[in-house]
Amino acid sequence: MPNNTGADVIVIGGGLAGAAVSWYLAREGVDVLLVERGEIGARASGANAGSIHLQIPVAEYRSLGRKWAETFAPTLSMMNVGVDLWKSLEDKLETPLEFRQCGGIIAARTEQEIALVREKAALEALQGIESTELDAGELLERAPYLAADMIGGAFYPDEGKANPLLVTRAFARAAERHGTRMAPQTEVTGMVRQQAFTVTTSRGRMSAQRVICAAGADAGHVAAMVGLELPIRGYPIQVSVTEPAATIVDHLVYSAAGKLTLKQMANGTCLIGGGWPSDLQADGTLAVSCRSMSDNLELLHSVVPALAGLQIVRTWPAMVNGNESWRPVVGEAPSCPGFYLCLFPWMGFTGGPIAAHCVADLILGRTPKYDVASLSDLPRPHVE
Ligand SMILES: Cc1cc2nc3c(=O)[nH]c(=O)nc-3n(C[C@H](O)[C@H](O)[C@H](O)COP(=O)(O)OP(=O)(O)OC[C@H]3O[C@@H](n4cnc5c(N)ncnc54)[C@H](O)[C@@H]3O)c2cc1C
Repeated sequence: MPNNTGADVIVIGGGLAGAAVSWYLAREGVDVLLVERGEIGARASGANAGSIHLQIPVAEYRSLGRKWAETFAPTLSMMNVGVDLWKSLEDKLETPLEFRQCGGIIAARTEQEIALVREKAALEALQGIESTELDAGELLERAPYLAADMIGGAFYPDEGKANPLLVTRAFARAAERHGTRMAPQTEVTGMVRQQAFTVTTSRGRMSAQRVICAAGADAGHVAAMVGLELPIRGYPIQVSVTEPAATIVDHLVYSAAGKLTLKQMANGTCLIGGGWPSDLQADGTLAVSCRSMSDNLELLHSVVPALAGLQIVRTWPAMVNGNESWRPVVGEAPSCPGFYLCLFPWMGFTGGPIAAHCVADLILGRTPKYDVASLSDLPRPHVE
């Protein structure tokens, strides 16, 4: 626990969003105190599947519909700016993150799936997302590991992957090098805003001119402390990892049939996800859903049969920060000056760095790297 209990900025939450915004501010000389209930990077930011996405998720395109997709689509242009940031992170943070723009491939087995991939790509292209439609031959030439009965798909050259076990810690270490003080094992339990913010924690009171809520799935609880209602909550989902193998899959792989993401990591293990639900038990703890696991693996093996022989060594559940619109919540709360939200839902591994950069820009009085005001689902002021 740091001795000092005052700072210019208190960041609540030590996931990717909180660690990144701390670094973006601290490197500009801002005095930052990061308060984390548990350990840095131990929640969604350290438990995710490591995909760098640049497309509308196909399962949601189907289940939530075209209207939702049109509302969500502009978020892709922010993610695209975010991917540009990702490209220089290893240099700037001075550490490997296993970031690779290996390209994403979505594989389709039926004409309906092809039509959906095409329709989705057209909407994405309006946001500047590049993709190339592939016929059966082109698909198998690019990705010979795919099932032979795939009839086509699309390639997204700018998608990729990175290692979630490395990224948040790298941001946190860089923030510390620039003077950020870290308070792990410290839960924020209350907050009062007068001239400044007084933040009550499990380890005493702290004060700051500005507060950034980067509390991920629990952001709603934190925002409620200053009277804001946020439509963000936790959704339990799970990821599986295989034993290591020789390189088989060199892309981020999706299926047009449903929830699947697959990538092979630098150590040869394959991460298998796609947002399959895990179980939320009565006492609030998470447990792996065997049903989800078997459905996830069934889809995987139908798309990449070569992986059927690999052992799954672990499946883990974690809460993802989600909202219904899937749009980011990034910026200063209109009804609570000095209180900033740094929340990139569902795909916050991809979008965390750009969300954090934008919040830091706003606090530093700069034009944000992305015009986040046009996109963000910030809570509106209460109307009496
Ligand atoms: C299983 C899974 C797979 C995923 N796969 C991908 C993927 O492949 N690609 C992608 O782009 N995204 C993916 N995501 C989403 C991504 O991981 C998250 O959107 C992102 O990590 C959110 O980062 P965050 O910093 O906002 O939240 P978190 O990492 O959850 O960090 C929030 C932190 O706030 C702390 N906190 C909360 N309340 C308080 C409090 N009151 N006081 C102090 N601290 C508090 C928490 O302890 C936590 O450490 C996945 C998520 C999950 C769960």
